[in-house]
Amino acid sequence: MTGLQRERNNKQILILSDCQSVLKAIKNNRLDVYKSSFILDIRRHHSRLKTKFGWKIIYGWIPAHRGYTGNEIADRLAKVGASEVAEINIPVPITDLRSIFREEAWNNTQDKLISKSSYKGKNYFRNFHDRNKKQPWFKEIKAERYFYSFINRIRANHYNLNESLARKNYIDISRCDCGYEKEDINHVIWQCSRYDVEREAMNEKLVKRNIYGAAEDIVELIKRKDWPKIGVVYRFIKQIGRII
Ligand SMILES: [Zn+2]
Repeated sequence: MTGLQRERNNKQILILSDCQSVLKAIKNNRLDVYKSSFILDIRRHHSRLKTKFGWKIIYGWIPAHRGYTGNEIADRLAKVGASEVAEINIPVPITDLRSIFREEAWNNTQDKLISKSSYKGKNYFRNFHDRNKKQPWFKEIKAERYFYSFINRIRANHYNLNESLARKNYIDISRCDCGYEKEDINHVIWQCSRYDVEREAMNEKLVKRNIYGAAEDIVELIKRKDWPKIGVVYRFIKQIGRII
């Protein structure tokens, strides 16, 4: 909201606002179809006062809720305004509508996905899905491409091992070549006798890095974002030469 302080004698106006985005938009010279008409109006008035009347207008940003009396009054008035019935004749800038459409599209997609989650992607929805999270998990991670696909495949519970392939009817039996009844990701990481040598090296690495080394469900590791331990497990997977 905007407070106004006018110094009448030398025709200087100081406009203070707690809305940084509006101040930036006023300052920005870029002109395109997304520019709000209200911003254009402000710039037009500014220009007229400056050229026609010789006024000097300065804009200043004040952080909200910091005890500025004028700002708090303006805030209160804005809240009263917001609770009144909407005036339909006031044009709404397209950018304001765009954010509403985006939110609507997001919610519709989420509803649709969740409605299918009882028979599709059950594992993912049970362990990882968060309908309010708009950034992918790997936004906070810098790694090579295979690391992302490795984690994503486990999150989706679809990966290139016999148990997963048999579940989707790509192959007939989920048995591991070592003889164990099913070759799933946790068996390969923590159990399979074919990789005892590499596992020994993995365990040494875990000890050396002071990481709790016991066998744990990889899904739980990913859920709690234990990246140091997952990193060591991932290097083990690369060591054994399996594309999971
Ligand atoms: Zn095995």
